[in-house]
Amino acid sequence: MNVHESEKMAGLLKKIGYFPAENILNADIIIFNTCAIREGAQDRVLGNVGALKKIKKKFPNKVVIVCGCMTQQLSVAQKLYSTFPFVDIILGTHNTHQLLKYLEDFKKYGKRILDIVEEGEICENNDIERTSGKNAWVNITYGCNNFCTYCIVPYVRGREKSRDKSKILEEIENLVKQNQYQTITLLGQNVNSYGQDKEGNGNFNELLNDICKIKGNFKLTFMTSHPKDLSFEVIDTIANQEKILKEIHLPVQSGSNKILKLMNRKYTIEEYLKKIEYIKFKIPNCKLTTDIIVGFPGETETDFMETCNLIEKVRFDSIFAFMYSERPNTPAIKFDGKVDEKEKNRRVNYILNLEKKIQKDKH
Ligand code: SF4
Repeated sequence: MNVHESEKMAGLLKKIGYFPAENILNADIIIFNTCAIREGAQDRVLGNVGALKKIKKKFPNKVVIVCGCMTQQLSVAQKLYSTFPFVDIILGTHNTHQLLKYLEDFKKYGKRILDIVEEGEICENNDIERTSGKNAWVNITYGCNNFCTYCIVPYVRGREKSRDKSKILEEIENLVKQNQYQTITLLGQNVNSYGQDKEGNGNFNELLNDICKIKGNFKLTFMTSHPKDLSFEVIDTIANQEKILKEIHLPVQSGSNKILKLMNRKYTIEEYLKKIEYIKFKIPNCKLTTDIIVGFPGETETDFMETCNLIEKVRFDSIFAFMYSERPNTPAIKFDGKVDEKEKNRRVNYILNLEKKIQKDKH
């Protein structure tokens, strides 16, 4: 999502004559498009922005901009504004499409800008400077309504909004005509709930089938699916449509029903496994990947072993395993049963070794 949004900002800047600099010293404008999903990502931004102090002192005309999920949190944006006086423009997630207007204002009046907007409408932007090789990202939804108790996304990305189907189809038709993208990847925090927020667009399954009707040589894939919303109908479509890649990323997060409930994931392991069985039955060679969080508050050794058992049962092709990281304003920071860092580390490494073993067996 962030990479694609950077592509959109690069596209806007290209329109007024800017192009990517080879390095920071050559850049007229330096933009940090930040992530807030884990504390580590946020700390890295602070370190990298801080490191600009000397450069900005030597080259005061460089414009420094910080935007994205991290600064969408007003308190963080304000702190950044007061700690780093050499940052010129601070925006959030809902107003980066107005980047050129902010830049113009800054150049005209020379005043620092901090503007965080609460919610935004979908802004169609065709000036995308694509940087992901043979893959083209295409947004289908923005925001999320799920409020998993560990996750900051609904607070920084707002409520779920589906893009108009006609706009999605138009964008993909244009991409296919250009004949330089092998893969189209549909993007959304929860692609499966596409269309639920407004009438007239149909659902995700219909969208997939409509995209597959576009003539041309391309493959289609999507991220990310929520296990509660991935329908059996969509699995059938993946199996039947030649254009759709046979791969599904289905983040399970934990193998324990107790932890899933605490996480507010709204599915049980039994329901998850039913979908996995159906995938394996309908698409025997489907590549299955997942996300796992270890050390969520209240996760005991028994809960953790249930996660390991689930991994052994499904035999994922790849796992993105993370240590639980407290995010501000999310319900989970108030939960009891905190797991210490050393133990989280042990658990994440255990899972990574398990993943390696399964991959070796499969290869
Ligand atoms: S569905 Fe994904 S993006 Fe939405 S709250 Fe849950 S983890 Fe966050």
